[in-house]
Amino acid sequence: MSENIIFAGFSLDPADHLRSDDTWLFEKITDPDSRFLLYADGRPLMDISDGLQAAYKTVDETNALTGGNWGQTDWAFIGTDGDIATFAVALIRKTDLPDHEKFIDLRSVALQASKAGFSPLPSLLGRGKMLLEWNGRRHYCSCCGRKTKADRGGYVRKCINDSCAKEHFPRTDPVVIMLVTDGDKCLLGRGKGWPEGNYSALAGFMEPGETIEEATRREVMEEAGMKVGNVTYIRSQPWPFPSSLMIGVFAEAITTEITLDEDELEDAIWIDKVKLRSLFDSGGDASFKIPPKIAIARYLLEEWLQQV
Ligand SMILES: [Zn+2]
Repeated sequence: MSENIIFAGFSLDPADHLRSDDTWLFEKITDPDSRFLLYADGRPLMDISDGLQAAYKTVDETNALTGGNWGQTDWAFIGTDGDIATFAVALIRKTDLPDHEKFIDLRSVALQASKAGFSPLPSLLGRGKMLLEWNGRRHYCSCCGRKTKADRGGYVRKCINDSCAKEHFPRTDPVVIMLVTDGDKCLLGRGKGWPEGNYSALAGFMEPGETIEEATRREVMEEAGMKVGNVTYIRSQPWPFPSSLMIGVFAEAITTEITLDEDELEDAIWIDKVKLRSLFDSGGDASFKIPPKIAIARYLLEEWLQQV
């Protein structure tokens, strides 16, 4: 199993003790050594001249590209590397860029990064995307309807209404993703509308008040009509589409007959280790495509295949 998961492995210091200091933040946001990651509609600006690198900008370049109008632009402090601070900035107007710089969908960036082995870049870009999108969705207070303003480098938004003064924090939506097993067989499903041959582990959002184990058992019952018993946590993965945490588990089946929830799943199949190994060895086929390396389902399957 790979040591690291795509979108995990944040490589900067989030510097919580510094980002609440407005003087320090102002110094860093005007520091010519600081680095700025630009985003348009959630897509980071990438330099494609030599592979795929983040196209970091200086504060002057960022001011030129945003029109210098920081008051109307969402931005967030991402972290420090030594004395160098990195910020994420959402562009709100179209701008001219050199040919070797493009805004690229983060899934595409992550897919490409995953082919070259582990890279901390998707984690960095994912954190910027999640913070900017959350700030962009929270311009108004959900308690009183008045405006909010960013605080602590974009990790909090405060209501400007003194009699409310509610603080809002970035949210993360937990999703359980479970590899249901029965001895040397595991259960994989194909969601409604997925391309032919795409199978993955079952998954669903956790509901308020649930444990991971309870959410797993409920999801499997709802989607496949099956009872599961033991649930074992394996790994988790930040998933910035828009802002989830995938919680990967193994779940032992108590019953094995599949009753599909046809609103959710097109198909679900039991597949044994011998068949799965041969599909992994051959790279899959038209009737069964192996989940891509950016998906935690891939890691769950690889982990399970390694177990004797
Ligand atoms: Zn309010």
